[in-house]
Amino acid sequence: MRSIDHWINGSLVPSASGRSGPVYNPATGEQSAEVGFAAAEEVDAAVTAAAEAFLTWRKASLSKRAEVMFNFHRLVVENRDEIARIVSLEHGKVPSDAAGELARGIENIEFACGIPNLMKGGFSEQVSTGIDVYSIRQPLGVAAGITPFNFPAMVPMWMFANAIAAGNSFILKPSEKDPSVSLFMAELLQRAGLPDGVFNVVQGDKVAVDRILQHPDIAAVSFVGSTPIAKYIYATGTANGKRVQALGGAKNHMVVLPDADIDMAADAAVSAGYGSAGERCMAISVVVAVGGIGDTLVDAIARRLPTLKVGPGTDPTAEMGPLITREHRDKVASYLEGAPGEGASVIVDGRQNDLPAEGFFLAPSLIDCVRPGMRAYDEEIFGPVLSVMRVDTYDEAVDLINRHQYGNGTAIFTRDGGAARQFQFDIKVGMVGVNVPIPVPVAYYSFGGWKASLFGDSNMYGPAGLDFYTRTKTVTSRWPDPSTSSVDLGFPQTR
Ligand code: NAD
Repeated sequence: MRSIDHWINGSLVPSASGRSGPVYNPATGEQSAEVGFAAAEEVDAAVTAAAEAFLTWRKASLSKRAEVMFNFHRLVVENRDEIARIVSLEHGKVPSDAAGELARGIENIEFACGIPNLMKGGFSEQVSTGIDVYSIRQPLGVAAGITPFNFPAMVPMWMFANAIAAGNSFILKPSEKDPSVSLFMAELLQRAGLPDGVFNVVQGDKVAVDRILQHPDIAAVSFVGSTPIAKYIYATGTANGKRVQALGGAKNHMVVLPDADIDMAADAAVSAGYGSAGERCMAISVVVAVGGIGDTLVDAIARRLPTLKVGPGTDPTAEMGPLITREHRDKVASYLEGAPGEGASVIVDGRQNDLPAEGFFLAPSLIDCVRPGMRAYDEEIFGPVLSVMRVDTYDEAVDLINRHQYGNGTAIFTRDGGAARQFQFDIKVGMVGVNVPIPVPVAYYSFGGWKASLFGDSNMYGPAGLDFYTRTKTVTSRWPDPSTSSVDLGFPQTR
């Protein structure tokens, strides 16, 4: 059985903890590898390497750091098919979707290539006679990233591209469900000229995460994953004096107003609901039909589902792959089991499929007449199950969304610009789409939800990401001029 190791100080290091977990090919149900789980001492070894490497990396010129990011960008682009293949094998998403994930990750490397410009501070000349003030950005030291299974290439890139370019060293603790791509990225970073120890990968579970949260030499922790763990990471990391950004789960509503183009809305709901088998934190999970359009919309969505090709990533015609594990597939299916008892109607039941029984497949499913208080509505499903709710008015739709515990993404479909503008004003959600169902911001904006979708004040990547991985220092400076020197015990004032 292939074993998946750590990457510490520029080399593969097998885990010595004696603890490990299986990695599956979700399309066949077969175990493809065994990943070692770090003990606290293995995390410590990575932190030691990262802390040592930081001392020289922070001195590397901005041009040198930009050059490494440009090299890395070129290598990722050259190897994009191989990266997509690795992601597809362990995650299950079809290679075209994995390539899409990578394209959005690459945007973050492009952003980080602009590090000389991004690190600029401010300068004010002559704030007082002969005195200037300027601010500079400096890296934090060792930063850590703890990432989820659903974007094993993109989400780490959200974090480490900016962190490293800003002069930090980085420790990635990827998901134990699809860990291989992290090692390939480490190798590419080394080939790009990144000094050993600046980027490290520690494989593992809660033991590794807890050591990261406690280690005194880790300055900042970025987390993306489910809400209960995000909450824990934020509380524990900040209690230990770390800067923490922790992004959690989601329940993304797509509001369809009566004036919307129903075919366009149905295409968008299907694309955003079932792409990547619904395992996206920005997937549409709930379609809110406003006014009398419910039947037409449900019919338009249901008509599209039999045409979706579900299958393994090795089938070039497949549009949607399996779920990540058998347990997760069964959990997602349980929402279909429970929905009728709670008063909803299962219009399309993905459990009735002729897909390979050994793989973790569930075909696209549609539940109608969902309401608050039902499990399928209150909880994040994170699978290919789309719910439809019917409300009479725009105000009811907004109220519904604003009362939900999650506030990651949302979208409105309408031809009415005034209604769309009002929606963007009213809605308590961090990322909003107007006739765009998955409004993931481009890399030069920043990503972040509201409410239980984000803990901490800092959004991820883009300008907010750069702020997260740097701190400012403000210098007040005067060059010696004996003619203006005197003793003055008063509090400094400008004059
Ligand atoms: P998860 O919370 O189970 O795992 C995320 C990370 O936390 C993994 O590295 C895992 O090893 C670690 N972890 C798991 N349990 C832990 C524990 N008890 N203590 C410490 N660490 C622990 O999430 P997942 O299942 O890998 O990913 C899916 C979730 O991530 C969904 O809820 C999805 O909405 C969310 N997500 C959110 C965003 C976002 O940007 N808001 C993006 C992608 C995914």
